[in-house]
Amino acid sequence: MPISNGYPEVEDQEGTRIEKVLLAALVGFLLVGSFWAQDRIESFFPAPTLMPYGKEPYSSNSSEQAGVSVEDELGVTPLRTELEKLSKEQGAKNDSLANALAAKSKADEKYKFRREEYRTAMQAGNASASQRSAFESSRSALESAAARLQQFQAASDEASSKVAAEQQKVNAAAQRAQAVFGARSFQRNVKLVVLHFSFAAACLVLSWILWLKGRNRRWRYQAILTGLFTASILQLFFLLIRYCWELFLSDVATLGVAGIGTAVCIFAIVAIKRWLYSPERLALARLSSRRCALCATPFTETQSHCWKCGHALTEKCPTCGSDRLLYAPFCGTCGAGSVTTLPKSP
Ligand SMILES: [Zn+2]
Ligand SMILES: [Zn+2]
Repeated sequence: MPISNGYPEVEDQEGTRIEKVLLAALVGFLLVGSFWAQDRIESFFPAPTLMPYGKEPYSSNSSEQAGVSVEDELGVTPLRTELEKLSKEQGAKNDSLANALAAKSKADEKYKFRREEYRTAMQAGNASASQRSAFESSRSALESAAARLQQFQAASDEASSKVAAEQQKVNAAAQRAQAVFGARSFQRNVKLVVLHFSFAAACLVLSWILWLKGRNRRWRYQAILTGLFTASILQLFFLLIRYCWELFLSDVATLGVAGIGTAVCIFAIVAIKRWLYSPERLALARLSSRRCALCATPFTETQSHCWKCGHALTEKCPTCGSDRLLYAPFCGTCGAGSVTTLPKSP
């Protein structure tokens, strides 16, 4: 039985640098895979769109942009089209009004000129019939121009009030659409948070179970499982960072992130204390490099007690009677199993 089997501490110490690099690479690739999986989860729930993107769905990102926008669905789009039409009509009416105004002021000028001409001729006593008729026709032209102006003014006012009414309709409908859009975006975000964290939690639990199994069976390639476990812890961690970063909308979600973050950190602290730096593992690691199991001070063959903490370093083997390392799982002379266990830490 190779000595390395069953003593992860020894393996850790003999682990070469290349193994560590490979382990880090393994964790990195697993994380890339996890990001892909999270993207997939997101694409299952297309994000709602508020405004229509034109008649055709986007050719490039069709899976995300396809589908009806909220404004289309709630009938805001035809209202907007109608508003555009009415605005155009209003523009045309305003142009006609401006023309009528110009025509009227021209007629006014002409009328004033003819009136003045006729009046001076009357005063001079030489007013002709043609001067009189020119004056009268300019007056009637002015009257009809004024009447037309009034007509165009009324038409323009009517068009303006139509536009204002339609604008109000559009505003109200757009507000409703905005509310629906907000609610849908929120629902989607909640779904994504739940799914993302469920996925990450499932990965974590699964890899943890595998890691424990491997450890209990003293699997030679436990490093792979350690990589898996590390990657799933990091996945959860990155998710937390991401959602903290996005910090979307409601206080409830923020509180959720805070709660999950606290839970993960406490779990990590306990896990590290319990599994990675358990007293047994530490003692074994220290004994492997000939250091005191309790205070890690190096010792030599000739010492029977630690010069620093004063604790005994050896004990009599109950099976063969020779001196054996205290807290070592097996006797170095006869191979008998452990007798003295470490003092329990509180
Ligand atoms: Zn000591
Ligand atoms: Zn022995």
